[in-house]
Amino acid sequence: MLYTSTRDGKTAVSASQCLLEGIAPDGGLYVPETFPQLSAEVISKMQQQTYEERAFAVLSSFLTDFSPAELRDCIHKAYGSGKFETETVVPLHPLADIEWVLELWHGPTLAFKDVALQILPHLLACAKAKQGEPCEILILVATSGDTGKAALEGFCDVDGMRIAVFYPNEGVSLMQKLQMLTQEGSNVTVCAVEGNFDDAQTGVKKIFADGDFNSLLLEKGIKLSSANSINWGRLVPQIVYYFSAYADLLQAGKLKKGDGINFVVPTGNFGDILAGYYAMRMGLPVHKLICASNKNNVLTDFFKKGEYDANRSFYKTISPSMDILISSNLERLLFELSGRESDTVTAFMNRLRSTGKYTITEKMQETLEQHFAAGFAGEEKTRAAIQRTYAQYGYIMDPHTAVAQSVYEEYLAATGDQTITVLLSTASPYKFPADVLDAMKEETVVKSEEFQAAQELVALGLPMPQAIRGLADKPVLHHTICAQGDMGDVILKGLETKI
Ligand SMILES: *Cc1c(COP(=O)(O)O)cnc(C)c1O
Repeated sequence: MLYTSTRDGKTAVSASQCLLEGIAPDGGLYVPETFPQLSAEVISKMQQQTYEERAFAVLSSFLTDFSPAELRDCIHKAYGSGKFETETVVPLHPLADIEWVLELWHGPTLAFKDVALQILPHLLACAKAKQGEPCEILILVATSGDTGKAALEGFCDVDGMRIAVFYPNEGVSLMQKLQMLTQEGSNVTVCAVEGNFDDAQTGVKKIFADGDFNSLLLEKGIKLSSANSINWGRLVPQIVYYFSAYADLLQAGKLKKGDGINFVVPTGNFGDILAGYYAMRMGLPVHKLICASNKNNVLTDFFKKGEYDANRSFYKTISPSMDILISSNLERLLFELSGRESDTVTAFMNRLRSTGKYTITEKMQETLEQHFAAGFAGEEKTRAAIQRTYAQYGYIMDPHTAVAQSVYEEYLAATGDQTITVLLSTASPYKFPADVLDAMKEETVVKSEEFQAAQELVALGLPMPQAIRGLADKPVLHHTICAQGDMGDVILKGLETKI
C-alpha cells in the first residue's frame, strides 16, 4: 500500500515515510492509494477477537511495510499493557435499544485522542528505524487542551523522540492544565504561551517554517515532526473502533451480519468522523455518519449548503475541544468526494486560504448527502442533553458527548430512522466536572471548585479514573511562560536535558 497526496496525485510514498513526514511536501495530506476491503466474514469474525486482534486486522491492511511482529508489538504496547482502564479498551454502553455510547476515554488522559496517541509514538519509532533516520525526532505541539496531554503521555520516555507542548496561558481548563504541568519524563518540554490558542498555534507554525531554526536543530541531530491529526498515524488507529463497536453489537445480538449502523461524532478537526468514513469505504455497512458540532457550526452549514465559510465569529464553549473554524481533515474528504482529483482539492484549499471560503459542486454535495447528516447544539442544548440523559438513563456524559446526543435526538425526531446508532463519547465527564455538574444540577458551580465537583460526581456513582485521583497532590514540574517570539529558545533550552 502506497500513500498519495491530496494535492498531487503523482506522489507515492510508503506507510513508514508518510507517518514520519506527517504532511506531504506540497502541503497536502497523505491518503492511502486504495481502501483495503474487510469482508462481512472478516467483520463477523471480529466478534471473537480481542481489541488487539481487531486493531491488527485494520492496521496491517494499511501499514504494509511494517512486519506483523512489529505491528503486534506496537499494538500491544498501546492497548495491552494496562494503559487503558478497561480490558476491552473502548467499551459500549447501552442507553436505549437503538442508542449506544462508545466510550473512547478510558486511556491515560481521559480523551479519545489516547486511542491514537498511545500507539503513534511506537509506530513512529518503528518507521524511523525502517527509514534509517539517524536524527532524534522532536514532536512539536500547540494544544487547546486534550491533544497536548495525550501526546505527552504517548511520547514521554520513548527512545529517539522528544516532545515540546505549548498551550495558551489563558484558554485550557484547570484539569487540562494540571494534567500537563505535572507531566513526568526526561524528554518533555511543557510551556505556557502568553495569549490564546491562535497565538500558540501561530508560533508553532512559524517554527516549522523557519529554515534557519530547522538547520540549527539538524546540526544538533534533531528533526521536527507533528502529532496532530493531519498525520495519517493519528487516523488509522481510529478506524479500528468503528469496526470494534460493530463487532460488539453483532456479538450482543443487536445487529445481524450486514445490518446498517449509524455513528454520531462530536467533531472539531474532522479526524474522528473521517476515520468512520474510511471504515465505511473498507466495507463496514455504515448507514449514516452524523456530524455533530457545537455553537461553532461551520461544518453544519457546509453539510447543508455545500459552502464552507470560516468567516464568522469564534465562540468559546463548554465543549472546548470542538472550538475550531478550520477543520483540516475535511481536505481528505474533499479528495474522495471529487473523485480523487488533486487539482480540485488544491483549488478549494487556495480559495480557503485567500478568501476563507469555498463551495463544492452539486455532484460532490449529492455524494456527501448519501453518507452524512449534520447538526449542531448550542450551549443550552448541550447542557439540556447532559441533564436529560442523566434523568432518563442515569448516565453521566461530558459536554462533547452531549453535543452528539442532542444532535442525535433532533436527527431521530426529523427522520424516524430506526437504525442502531452509536454515539462516540470523546471525553470523560471528569475532565470537565464543574460544567457537567452545573448542567445536571441546574445551578452554577464555581470553576475553582473543580475538585469538589469531581467528588460530587463520585457521590453520584461515577467511578473516578486513576488519571484524576491524585492530580491535586502531584508536584507541578513545569513553570515556564513565554512570549510567542521566545518559543524557539524554550525548545533549545529543553534540548539541554539528556535523554
Ligand atoms: C479532539 C476532540 C474532539 C474532536 O475530534 P476531531 O477529530 O478533531 O474532530 C471531540 N471531543 C473531544 C473531547 C476531543 O478531545
